Amino acid sequence: MNEMNNQSGEFHGLNLSAPILKALKKQNYEKPSPIQIETIPAVLSGKDVLAAAQTGTGKTAAYILPILDRLSKGKKVQSNLVRALILAPTRELAAQIFDSVQNYGRFLPIEATVVYGGVKINPQMIRLTKGLDILVATPGRLLDLYRRNSINFRQLEILIIDEADRMLNLGFLPEIHELLTRIPARRQTLMFTATFSEDVRELAREIVTDPVEISVNPQEITVNSVKQWIYPVDKMRKTELLIKLIKENKWTKILVFTKTKNRADHLEQKLHKKGILTAAIHGDKGQGARTRALAEFKADKISLLVATDLAARGLDIEQLPLVVNFDLPHLKEDYIHRIGRTGRANATGEAVSFVSAEEFPKLRDIERLTKQVLERRIVEGFELENPLPESQLDVRPFKIKKPKKRKQ
Ligand code: AMP
Repeated sequence: MNEMNNQSGEFHGLNLSAPILKALKKQNYEKPSPIQIETIPAVLSGKDVLAAAQTGTGKTAAYILPILDRLSKGKKVQSNLVRALILAPTRELAAQIFDSVQNYGRFLPIEATVVYGGVKINPQMIRLTKGLDILVATPGRLLDLYRRNSINFRQLEILIIDEADRMLNLGFLPEIHELLTRIPARRQTLMFTATFSEDVRELAREIVTDPVEISVNPQEITVNSVKQWIYPVDKMRKTELLIKLIKENKWTKILVFTKTKNRADHLEQKLHKKGILTAAIHGDKGQGARTRALAEFKADKISLLVATDLAARGLDIEQLPLVVNFDLPHLKEDYIHRIGRTGRANATGEAVSFVSAEEFPKLRDIERLTKQVLERRIVEGFELENPLPESQLDVRPFKIKKPKKRKQ
């Protein structure tokens, strides 16, 4: 429907104001991404939105552009009040969102800031005194500031929850519930999530009202732009295979996914011993270590980053040539999030998966989800002791569970 209103597929057709279009031009964005085409008109019309979208789809601009438009047309905010609140699960994501607010809002008189934990609270308290059009925050620090009377939500018009699934995984539900008792019931709410667990659906029922439901087709991202294949391999020989492939193919700048924090740490140590510059990021690593690892990876000081699914979600690492699934993910949808890290910005990326016999059920689900049988390559000397069964493509689609209507 919205796509029909914007057949030309251009930002000009989306009713955004001139200062925003000018900022997009400066960003060199040529046309809106599918999630932007659907989300922007819904938000501009004042509706609630519930969107299934992962990083890499352009989801951040999808909500920031229309809220900038709406806020720039409203009245000025008073001190210590805020008009739009964007909640993000981690400090990295909050900082990235704030960067986007500044980029897209550079030609608008919008007051915005970001607050998160792990840094001094006083400068943040001072920044809040003048009142804000947009506040980007992590939940814990936000409530801390609220309890210190640095912020009041009386004038809140729009609430945005980004990466809601991760927010719940990190245990922020109590903070969200407390916040909900402090903000006006009459508001516009936008919720973004990469996955829909029962918990996420429950939260959606609580916070959005009669939402426009949007989801971008994940298959489009994977199948079209990422070359994928698997290496069948015995479980105990995965590290050995990785080292061989890195050396033979001179792989650099690879993101490697493991299924647990422990396996990430072990792999990091083993690669380190082989002289491969590696860092691991996962939930048990301190904020400092994670930020440092990411910065070194981006600056090409280390060639390999090992990550768990949770730690990698929301990281803005662009244009990776290669993603390695050292283990297949627990959730089949995470396969798409992982490989979505490569092949962005029209560059073709590659995603390879190491699959042992015991992971066959996961492989079958992934092939069913992405509607393809993945090519298999056996490396000489790595013939399997425990063979991987042949794949038969299951063409039945998975049922998409939609959130039920909110309880009255
Ligand atoms: P996100 O999914 O919000 O994390 O965005 C992923 C990346 O896509 C970010 O680096 C954005 O700067 C970029 N991006 C967002 N929208 C567009 C667009 N319409 N055209 C080109 N790049 C975009």
